[in-house]
Order: sequence, then structure tokens, then C-alpha cells
Amino acid sequence: MTTTPEHTSAVPLRVLDHNDIFRDEVYQKQFEGKREFENAAPKEEVQRVLDWTRGWEYREKNFAREALTVNPAKACQPLGAVLAALGFEGTMPLVHGSQGCVAYFRSHFARHFKEPVPAASTSMTEDAAVFGGINNLVEAMENITALYKPKHIAISTTCMAEVIGEDLFAYIGAARDQEAITQDFPVSYAHTPSFVGSHITGYDVMLKGILEMLAKSPDADASKVAKSDKVRLNVIPGFDTYIGNHREYKRILELMGVDPLILGDHSSSLDSPADGEYDLYPGGTPLAEGALAKFSRASLVLQESTLRRTAEYIEKDWKQDTILLETPLGVKGTDAFLTAVAKVAEVEVPAELTAERGRLVDAITDSHAYVHGKRVAIAGDPDLVVALTRFVLELGMIPVHIVSTNADTSFPARMEKVLSASKFGEEATVWPEKDLWHLRSLVFTEPVDVLIGSMQLKYISREANVPLVRVGFPIFDRHHLHRFPIIGYTGGLHLLTQLVNTILDEMDRNAPDHSFDAVR
Ligand code: SF4
Repeated sequence: MTTTPEHTSAVPLRVLDHNDIFRDEVYQKQFEGKREFENAAPKEEVQRVLDWTRGWEYREKNFAREALTVNPAKACQPLGAVLAALGFEGTMPLVHGSQGCVAYFRSHFARHFKEPVPAASTSMTEDAAVFGGINNLVEAMENITALYKPKHIAISTTCMAEVIGEDLFAYIGAARDQEAITQDFPVSYAHTPSFVGSHITGYDVMLKGILEMLAKSPDADASKVAKSDKVRLNVIPGFDTYIGNHREYKRILELMGVDPLILGDHSSSLDSPADGEYDLYPGGTPLAEGALAKFSRASLVLQESTLRRTAEYIEKDWKQDTILLETPLGVKGTDAFLTAVAKVAEVEVPAELTAERGRLVDAITDSHAYVHGKRVAIAGDPDLVVALTRFVLELGMIPVHIVSTNADTSFPARMEKVLSASKFGEEATVWPEKDLWHLRSLVFTEPVDVLIGSMQLKYISREANVPLVRVGFPIFDRHHLHRFPIIGYTGGLHLLTQLVNTILDEMDRNAPDHSFDAVR
């Protein structure tokens, strides 16, 4: 019994998963008919071309392409801007442009975090594209404040708004003049044209816009800083979709006797508890605290490529000690992070963290026989890729292909520094601005044992029969990975667990009977 079109209502309905339904004879016949109608190439010819695309000749053609991108491992700027906005208390992200863009951002985050994602659109259509979208923006702000009662609106733009040169500053002024919002209602904005940059650029400019607005607000008053014997440090994780990381940063700094202020804390906004009450704004950095961030002792900036403009702004305008660190993954990354915190806050690393370090080193030793020498390809955002590469080198793995579609100009030098520090880095080739279709060629021509990257790599994983360890964004097809930290010693243990168990699963799957051991 199936739910094929030939069945009538007299047949009890059994809904088949699409894994099964399209194997049904009826669909198979339809597929054959479609091939015939389209005069499709013979299957043997399709297979011949497919095989050719897996070879060196095609790889060279693939790498010669200039005006075409296939499967880029990046999203567009306003997506990042929405995430930055969700990191602040009571904030409604408002994207000025066409409605479909916001639907895409919301669905992307909802699929990754498995959470509802508030974000509004000014819903520009043809008339606004021709005459300008000021009325859309003013009306949107009026509706949002009336219906959703946010404490702050963070505005970004889509391609359409940028192509016609919309002036957000002037439009926000018009909204105040027309009393769509009050004169002092907090609004921040960032222009996020998607024909340049990527989601990490959008994150950066929106975060900078929010911090600028907060730093000029009436709450940005040094007399409002609470008296404390603890040093306050700003922690800026950046476009970090591991909500477990935000909690881990707080835990580590509190253990060190430091008062952490996470700037852009979306850990609660995208992980609200199911307690029977729906809260539209369940978390985020408190706005009043964000306004005081410029009085903290220093800012720890944990994504160098992503947070370039934000870091420059803090350093120049706040004249604050701005410490650029690699995202603290693995032993060395976490050591560097703790050392920097200890130095700037003048505190000691507590025994509890030293013990966690020892546990991670012990776990790496336990697993080294399985991970050591494994060849790996890594793809993703530049800051994550740099940190992951350093971690896999620590494990004695051999990075072979390193791809970052949205890498900036500093990326090759940063990678070189990481790779040259280990003899396991000698074989690596670094591919800034290349896409996942390039990675496919690399994996087929120079095979690896493991892929590390987002869910987008699953197609290469299946075709090339190489296991994928899912790290990064987006991950739509596995659950809860983002809830666990990957930073710090504890996060290193989670990453190691994912890596070694993927390798062991693969080993078991391929083991001949005499090697299918109970103990690994
Ligand atoms: S690339 Fe441009 S049009 Fe496409 S979703 Fe992003 S903002 Fe919208």
C-alpha cells in the first residue's frame, strides 16, 4: 500500500517518506517517460561525463572559471545582519527590501536552530523599487512598534534597496518626524548590499551599527557602571552559530573571576525553553549593558576576518584595548585565549580550567591512533577554518584542501602561519574565494579521509564516499550540534568526539569480518 496517484480513497492511506515514495513503480514509470519526452542523453553518456568531471582535466577547467560561482559556501550580507540584531535585548531585525529575502533568512535560521526567528520586512515591491521605499520603511516601523513592541529596531538592507541607493539615515529621520516612532526610540542601521561581501560582512557592519547607536545613547554614562571588584571584559564572538559557545565563554570568564559582557549574545534568542509561554524576545545582550561596553577594560575580538570593522571602531572611537584573537578551538587556541584574559584582567587561570585542559589532552591521546595521519578537507567561514585547521594539526591530522569562499585578504597569511607551525601542515593547499564545486574537484583528484564543514558538503560526501563531520553553518540535517560548545577545552572535547567517532563509524562500516572488533 502506498500513497501513489493511482490509489483511491477506498485504500487506507499510508503516507510514505520521500525516501520510499519515489521508488514506487508509478513514479519510476513517470521518470522514464520524462527522460523520453526530454530526449535525455543515454545513461551511459551521463555516466561518462560524470566520471570525466571527477578527473584532473576537468579540475583544470573548473579552476580556470572566472565569471561563475557554483555552490558558494556563504550567504548574503543581511542574513548576518539579522543574526547580529538577534544578539540584543528586545530587538526586532527589520530588513529593508523585498519580502522573499527575509523569508529566506528566517527559514535558514529556523532550519539551523529549530527555533522561531522574529524578523520583519519592509516588503518593497515594484512601485517602491521605482520611486523609493521611504513609505515602506516608515510604515514598517510604525507597525512593528505598535504590534511587536520591541525596545530597539535594527535595520539592514537587501540588494534591491541598495541598487536604488536607499538612504536609511534620512528615512529613519523621516519616521521620527512623521511620528511613526518617537524621537528617542532606539534604531540602529547598516547598509548590507549583497552583491559584495557575505553574511560575515553583514554581521560585522550591523554589530558596529548597534554598538555605535548604544554608545551614543543616554545610557552610555560612566556613572551608571556598577561598582564591582571584578574586571569587566567585552567578549565579541562574531558570526558564531554555536549557542553553546556563548555560554562557554561566560562560564570560562566567570571561573577566572572576570565579569564578561558578551556583545551580540544570541544564545537565548535562538534557544528559548519550551515552558508553555511564547516570548518574542527571549534574550540578548541587555541594551543598557551594551551602552556601557565602552567603559569595559578591554574587548576580546574572536573572529578577525568577520569583525574587522567592529574592531577598528572600538579601537578608534572607544579608544579601548582591542585584543584580536583566533577563535579558541582546541588546546593551543584555548591556551592563547586564557593567557590573553589572564594578562588583561590580571587574574590567574583556575585549577578547574587546568584540569579541563588535562582532560582534553588525555582524550586526544586516547584517540590519536585513529585520527593521527588522517587526510582532511576543511571548508567554511575564514575564522572558523583557521581555528579548525589549527585544531586538526594538533591532533596529527593532515589538512589537504582548505576552502573558504568568503575569505578576506588576510586569510592566506593567517593560514600560512598556522600551517607552517606544524609538520603536518606541509601538504595543505589553501583556496580562498573558491566554492564547493572547486572542493568537489579537489576531493576527487586528491582524495581525503574526512571532510569538515557545513551540511552543504554532504553532497560531496555522498558522491565521493568520504565521511563528513558537520561543523559550522548551516547545518539543517542534524540536530542539536549548535547547542554544544566547540570552543574552550570542553568544546575541543566535543569536536574530538565528533571527529573520532565519525572515523570509527567509517572504520566499522568498511571492516572485513576479521577486523570488526568490539574494542576500538
Ligand atoms: S542576495 Fe540579495 S536578493 Fe538574494 S536574498 Fe540576499 S539580499 Fe535578497
